[in-house]
Amino acid sequence: MTATVAIIGRPNVGKSTLFNRLVGKRLALVDDTPGVTRDRRSGDARLGDLRFKIVDTAGLEEAEAASLEGRMRAQTEEAIRDADACLFLIDARAGLMPLDEHFANLLRRADTPVILCANKAEGKAGDGGLYDSFTLGLGDPVPLSAEHGEGLSDLYDFLRPIV
Ligand code: GDP
Ligand code: MG
Repeated sequence: MTATVAIIGRPNVGKSTLFNRLVGKRLALVDDTPGVTRDRRSGDARLGDLRFKIVDTAGLEEAEAASLEGRMRAQTEEAIRDADACLFLIDARAGLMPLDEHFANLLRRADTPVILCANKAEGKAGDGGLYDSFTLGLGDPVPLSAEHGEGLSDLYDFLRPIV
């Protein structure tokens, strides 16, 4: 059976960029399901010889501010429950923010394995956020650059035992 990997994190950390990179040309197969799951997008991911289903928890940027946290919590908890592994993205350039802690709390309470990814880690501007992310208590961060395609071989090493 194909494993499911969910990309979790606050808006703007680079979830959709990572999703697009892992799905690549198979983006045409992306399933935009309307209705209750409209905040989730899934596609067929490829990383080296690994094949898995990837879920982008998307669309939150357009949510009404008042209901943003509630919607994020509900859809994120569901995505975490349904996944075999979670990629928890933080923005290494921006550093840790209160919303990152909010997602970290959800993930710590879940049974799903978590791979902590410090995205936007290209260059030196991400070093501070990368080191800060050790304090989340979710294991060693994988430095990633979804935009530049860096760190994917480390991500492969973390995903390989799971998917
Ligand atoms: P999402 O809201 O978590 O889905 O984030 P997006 O994928 O929409 O990305 C938010 C912004 O971060 C966009 O402007 C991206 O181009 C940028 N971004 C994504 N990945 C990287 C990265 O690895 N490095 C840098 N510098 N910017 C990135
Ligand atoms: Mg997005």
